[in-house]
Amino acid sequence: MNLKRFTIFAVLLLLPSAIAAQSLEPSAAKIQQNVTYLASDALDGRRTGTAGANEAAKYLAKEFERLGLRPAPATDSRKINVMLARYLQTFPYIGSVELGKNNVLSVKSGETLRVGEDWMPLGISPNQKLDLTGVVFPGYGITANELNYNDYKGTYTKNQVAVIQKGTPDGDNPHGRFTTAGQLRFKVAAAQSAGVGALLIISSEDDLKNDALAKLHYDNAGLAGIPVAVISKQAAEKLANAKEVTLRTDVVRVDVPAHNVVGVIEGSDPVLKNESIVIGAHYDHLGRGGEGSLAPRPGEIHHGADDNASGTAGVLELARIFSTQRPKLKRTLVFIAFSGEEEGLLGSNYYVNHPLMPLDKTVAMINMDMIGRMKDRKLIIGGVGTAKEWRQLLTASNGGFELTMNEDGYGPSDHSSFYSKQIPVLFFWTGTHNDYHKPSDTSEKINYDDEARILSLVARIIRDVDSADPRLTYTTAKSEPPRGGGFRVYLGTIPNYADTNEGLLLDGVRDDSPAAKAGLKAGDRVVKIGTRDVKNVYDYTAALGEMKAGQEYVIEVMRGSEKLTLKIVPQARN
Ligand SMILES: [Zn+2]
Repeated sequence: MNLKRFTIFAVLLLLPSAIAAQSLEPSAAKIQQNVTYLASDALDGRRTGTAGANEAAKYLAKEFERLGLRPAPATDSRKINVMLARYLQTFPYIGSVELGKNNVLSVKSGETLRVGEDWMPLGISPNQKLDLTGVVFPGYGITANELNYNDYKGTYTKNQVAVIQKGTPDGDNPHGRFTTAGQLRFKVAAAQSAGVGALLIISSEDDLKNDALAKLHYDNAGLAGIPVAVISKQAAEKLANAKEVTLRTDVVRVDVPAHNVVGVIEGSDPVLKNESIVIGAHYDHLGRGGEGSLAPRPGEIHHGADDNASGTAGVLELARIFSTQRPKLKRTLVFIAFSGEEEGLLGSNYYVNHPLMPLDKTVAMINMDMIGRMKDRKLIIGGVGTAKEWRQLLTASNGGFELTMNEDGYGPSDHSSFYSKQIPVLFFWTGTHNDYHKPSDTSEKINYDDEARILSLVARIIRDVDSADPRLTYTTAKSEPPRGGGFRVYLGTIPNYADTNEGLLLDGVRDDSPAAKAGLKAGDRVVKIGTRDVKNVYDYTAALGEMKAGQEYVIEVMRGSEKLTLKIVPQARN
């Protein structure tokens, strides 16, 4: 016996078995390991633009590298370490707001109010200098046509500043009548629509510094159309009889980089490798609360285990499986962990406008968002109407799930961005639950075994998409207008929630909808509806709330540099 030879033989024997040990089946243990880390306190809730989110991005880049994925061709190289940075696609994001040097609020009698003590501009306020000749006090500053409620009686001019109360006539009741109209953004829209030049909100705190409104914050949803500030009770009294008021707002919004993480497995077919399949999930979450949080109080870490460490772990697990599988798939697989989703699909929107692989050769996008809370084998799949083949593929290999299939390619997650570019999409989701957007969305509540089963199904679908030489046939999905938005009318527009330029950019228009009949198109920017100026999505929503079904309204849109005036007749929502 030749021990040396045997040793070599044994090593050779071990090699293939070592590879075989890298199973092609999703592993609940590996998913659990990744979810547990991503949802841990160490990452501080992964709010876009924060250290916690950047730490998560670094981890994902490392995992892509370890699994042998390649960076996408043109990924930006910035920050973290140079090697890992090649996996990052960096996009602009306002991470913080600072006070500029030129804030002024003064009354003619000579009194100057101190910024930071007596008043504070809001992070959403544009920077302007106004000489105002009148102060008005329109109550809570709420306009809610559906409730026949309007605090703005009479006519107003741009030379006036409105000083309003915080809150609503229903107090703090979260189930009161004014859940939408009472929100800050809608109060701003109401003031703007009433025609005043600026809005001051009286603080409910005795010390202005304790007011949440005084803590400079920007929601990445576009600037307000008029200057907005919070003012102390005492300062508001000083304005009561003022004839002339000077207001100058100066807010510095600080851009911090945010990152999508992108890794590629090149296809094995010399021709089909030019086509790609995107497999994505957002990794960002809500940090310590604030915008989007449903927690009773701010400050606690929102762990986001289901939303969306579960989907992110899914991306990693599928990357592991497809990097192990031989032969490799024919087409190129693009794995993307998106950021900025919670702020309004910012990362995926950036990707489809700055794609790293050609979009016209992107044959499908598979999105996983909240796939960790399966109950009774119930799985929801969106986007089934976006390719002719989807329904048949899903039915053929449904993996023993009880499937709810939704046609629409638009929905509340990143697949929407791809569908808006006419790419077939599928959206995997196990539904909402009590811990949604709360600190209690934690890793021990995840159903790892069923998540592994879901990933088996996703992997099968991806193999099926890849195995056919002709690519999927894109179809326009039947749309299901979202219910319960609080609106009585339906236009059929698909707003781009990520765009922050003036007006409301449309990603699309639903077939046969009032918007389609009016001649609106994807890419149009709505700037006016009826008498309302539309500067952002909130102005638009407020305008929608005032419309009546069956009545004709003038709608102004910018198409390129051309301004079009169209007519639209909203439908009643059923
Ligand atoms: Zn979420």
